[in-house]
Amino acid sequence: MQHINVPPENHVKVLNGQGWVGLIDQLGSEISIVNAARVSFGKLKEKMAAADVKLLHYLLDNKHTSPMEHMAFTFSIHCPLFVRGQWHRHRTWSYNEISRRYTEIDMQMYVPPVIRKQAESDRQASVEWNSDTEAEMQGIIDAHNKASLEVYYNLLEKGVAREQARGVLPQNMMVTFWGTVDLNNLLHFLELRDHSHAQWEIREYAKAIKALIKPLIPNVAEYYKSKGQEW
Ligand SMILES: Cc1cc2nc3c(=O)[nH]c(=O)nc-3n(C[C@H](O)[C@H](O)[C@H](O)COP(=O)(O)OP(=O)(O)OC[C@H]3O[C@@H](n4cnc5c(N)ncnc54)[C@H](O)[C@@H]3O)c2cc1C
Repeated sequence: MQHINVPPENHVKVLNGQGWVGLIDQLGSEISIVNAARVSFGKLKEKMAAADVKLLHYLLDNKHTSPMEHMAFTFSIHCPLFVRGQWHRHRTWSYNEISRRYTEIDMQMYVPPVIRKQAESDRQASVEWNSDTEAEMQGIIDAHNKASLEVYYNLLEKGVAREQARGVLPQNMMVTFWGTVDLNNLLHFLELRDHSHAQWEIREYAKAIKALIKPLIPNVAEYYKSKGQEW
């Protein structure tokens, strides 16, 4: 049996190799979308033709979203706790996660590969820094990550329950979860999270998802590219 903390075969590494997102299952294809759109005519096709691409683009142009729900994906995601917090705001996904009430093995902590500065104009945002204190900042974060792990294991050793001891672990703790979503809601997620307003870390995951699904939805990707989006 494989451990869930191991990336699946089809995955993309993110955050300088500290995180990953993998595609573990898929339902339907672009042809399912156009077939769903034409269900009312009682006709089914097996291969995309030029007219189907045109229909697909028409659906996207006119926000005729329900046919997109007939294609779905399951991803396995390994990310810091704070990214998981942002991700789980997307209520249209279904989630399951490793329980830290159940296991204390394989704890990993995120150290940002690049340290950004607080933006002055936007209280939510950060800006490039290129500070010569970057290594020092990373060292402080790494030391705190390690110290909190030490406190955690110390508490476990003293007999404290995992469900309470985990309270001392920082937002940089890496978690692994599964997320299943249909294409319509995934496109919405990607629009919000591969965006300049989104935090760099979650944006990395959104870009990685695009790389994973692009071969499966080439005409949808092409549509967004034609609208100036990066795909
Ligand atoms: C850059 C950025 C900054 C953010 N900052 C903050 C912040 O400071 N604080 C904060 O709390 N959140 C913040 N968020 C989270 C944001 O408010 C949304 O919760 C998150 O992006 C999920 O979006 P969503 O609800 O559209 O997605 P989903 O939950 O996946 O929903 C998709 C769509 O389904 C429909 N839907 C889903 N649930 C309901 C419902 N109950 N009722 C009606 N329609 C529904 C809506 O049309 C919705 O757009 C931020 C998000 C981004 C991208």
